[in-house]
Amino acid sequence: MMLGPPGAGKGTQARRLADDLGLLHIATGDILRQAAAADTDLGRQAAAIMSQGGLVPDAVMIGLIAERLGDPAATGGFVLDGFPRTVEQAQALDELMREQTGREIDAAVYLDAPEEELVRRSASRRVCRGCGANYNLISSPPRRESICDACGGGLYLRDDDREGTVRRRLAVYRDLTHPVTAYYDARGCLRRVDGLAPPDQVYQDLRRQLAGLERA
Ligand code: AMP
Repeated sequence: MMLGPPGAGKGTQARRLADDLGLLHIATGDILRQAAAADTDLGRQAAAIMSQGGLVPDAVMIGLIAERLGDPAATGGFVLDGFPRTVEQAQALDELMREQTGREIDAAVYLDAPEEELVRRSASRRVCRGCGANYNLISSPPRRESICDACGGGLYLRDDDREGTVRRRLAVYRDLTHPVTAYYDARGCLRRVDGLAPPDQVYQDLRRQLAGLERA
C-alpha cells in the first residue's frame, strides 16, 4: 500500500509498481472520480465531499474496498493507493484481509515531501478524463498539450488540486491519515521513501525497499 500526503506521488508510483509486478492497482480516488463522472449515488455523495477536500465516510470506503478485494483479479496481489486514510479503515482492512484473502499487508510505503512542494505539485498535476493517467506540467508533461499520451483523452485540473482545497486536504491528512503510518510502523512493515526526488529515482528507491518481498 502507498501512504503519504496528497501530491507525494502515490498514484504515479503505485501504477508503475502494479504494472511491473502484475498486481491489481486499487486507487480509491480514481474509483470515486469514475463514480462521480458516471453520476451514480456513490459518485454524487463523494463528489460534494471531495471538492471540499474532506474524507468520504469510513463505512462507504470500507464497503467499496471489500468489493474490490473480493474481485478475482485481486487474488494475485494488489497495490492499494489512497486507502486506508484513517486508523478505522486500517483496522477494517486487517479484518477484511483475514476474512477474504487469508493474507496480510506485506508493506506500507510512506512517501513524503515538504508541504510547499505538495501544493506546487498538485497545482501542476493534470489527470486524463479517459484513463485516469496523471501528468505533471513541469516534471512529466504530456507530449501534446492537454492530451493523454496513453489514450488520447483530454486532461483536466482536479477541482481539489486548487491551492485552498489542497491546504484543507493537507490538514485532513495531518489529523486523520498521518496516524495510519504509526499503525503500520508499530507492526514493522512501514518503508519510508523520499518523495521529493524525481519520479524515476523515487521508483528505484521504492523497489529497493521492497526487494525482499517480491515473489517470482
Ligand atoms: P486521491 O485521488 O487519492 O487524492 O483521493 C481524492 C479524494 O477522494 C480524497 O481527497 C477524498 O475526498 C476521497 N477519498 C479517496 N480515498 C479515500 C478514503 N480511503 N477515505 C476517504 N476518502 C477518500
